Amino acid sequence: MSADFPLIDIPFEQRHTCWFCAEPCADTFEYPAQAYTPHPSLAVPSCKECKKIASKNPLTSIWDCHMAVKDELMRIYAKHLAIGENWTEQELAESEFSCKVFEGFKKSAWFMYQVAKGRVSAAPWPISINGVALDSTDYQLGFQFDGVNYSSIAKAVDHYSQMLGLDKDFLQQLVSIVGRHRFAYAVRVSRLNIVASKAVKRQVLQDIANESTDDIS
Ligand SMILES: [Zn+2]
Repeated sequence: MSADFPLIDIPFEQRHTCWFCAEPCADTFEYPAQAYTPHPSLAVPSCKECKKIASKNPLTSIWDCHMAVKDELMRIYAKHLAIGENWTEQELAESEFSCKVFEGFKKSAWFMYQVAKGRVSAAPWPISINGVALDSTDYQLGFQFDGVNYSSIAKAVDHYSQMLGLDKDFLQQLVSIVGRHRFAYAVRVSRLNIVASKAVKRQVLQDIANESTDDIS
């Protein structure tokens, strides 16, 4: 682990637990802070799957990143989660099924549902580094743009990329670089580059990242 990315404090009962989904884990996800990020660069314990999703969705803070991971897990495990929509535990207990088919369902499908449900409803523990708590009370996960309220910045990115036919990953990366307060700018850059090649987009991202660093110095 790099010295620039201190690992957040891990409560005793959360050892080897993914900060995002509370599944057992052995890996860490490093979050690099930008100039606007409301917290320093940091590392959180993460399972492999959440790490992969988080790396693609850093957005504008570790908390926004968590929302995006949760949304993505819900999308990936929609079928598993639907099992719980179709059956309640009580219904299952009271149902007349008693054959092997049902035993199989209880052992596999119901178990998959419980795992998926646990992961998407996991609440990450509050972040502190070396005993100093990061204050997230002032931080608004919700995002307002052009008179519309979004439950998260990830939802706004989703909405705009669908509505305007933009490259979602590109818009997301732009927002990560410039911050949520320059969302309009990120959308404009995406619209300008709507038919740009991957190489051009990479160059644009690089140029804007360099500009942002110039702003700090
Ligand atoms: Zn996880």
